[in-house]
Amino acid sequence: MGKVDLIYENAPAPMEDSRALHAVGYGLYIVTTRENGKDSGLVVNTVSQVASNPTVLAVGINRANYSCGVISRTKKLNVNVLTESAPFSLFQRFGFQSGKDRDKMQGLVYGRSENNLPVLREHTNAFFSLKVKDSITLPSHTLFLCTVEESASFNRDKSMTYAYYHASVKPKATPAKAKGWVCKICGYVHSEENLPDDFICPICKHPKSDFEKL
Ligand code: FE
Repeated sequence: MGKVDLIYENAPAPMEDSRALHAVGYGLYIVTTRENGKDSGLVVNTVSQVASNPTVLAVGINRANYSCGVISRTKKLNVNVLTESAPFSLFQRFGFQSGKDRDKMQGLVYGRSENNLPVLREHTNAFFSLKVKDSITLPSHTLFLCTVEESASFNRDKSMTYAYYHASVKPKATPAKAKGWVCKICGYVHSEENLPDDFICPICKHPKSDFEKL
């Protein structure tokens, strides 16, 4: 595992338009992990096939997440592909609490793949068991480059996209009397006039750029 490459630190981006990123298409996935007999998982939008023969999937995990350390240590993860039927409660379960101090799997019915990691069979249409072959440590995320050890397609239901999540799954913000900033990802409200540049959402770990002024 490499240390943070200094070329990424404080990289100025004077020409960066944050709206441009909204033009990029993303899916939504639950990455599941297991370490010392404990199953856990988290929601990510950062899964892509980046090479073939052999197939390589890149998975970016925020380093503030418990699962990032688990994957670094165990070199294993499962990617569960969410469908449009996935309810907001599933995003709350996997995205808005930490596996560090919570059992995110409690009350959930799930199976296991050959690598003994959880496989979610509800609100998913496929899964992959991945083996970490390499990783790149970035200031916010670790990018894991992985080969496929096992995969299956369960049905032809439509995959959940980030755009669909924002349009049809995330509850609409209630008309706010509150002042401050709201996280566009999870709805967390920071009730202060100022939002520091290095602010990280305490619920979903997204940065200041994902907040908007109320
Ligand atoms: Fe948030």
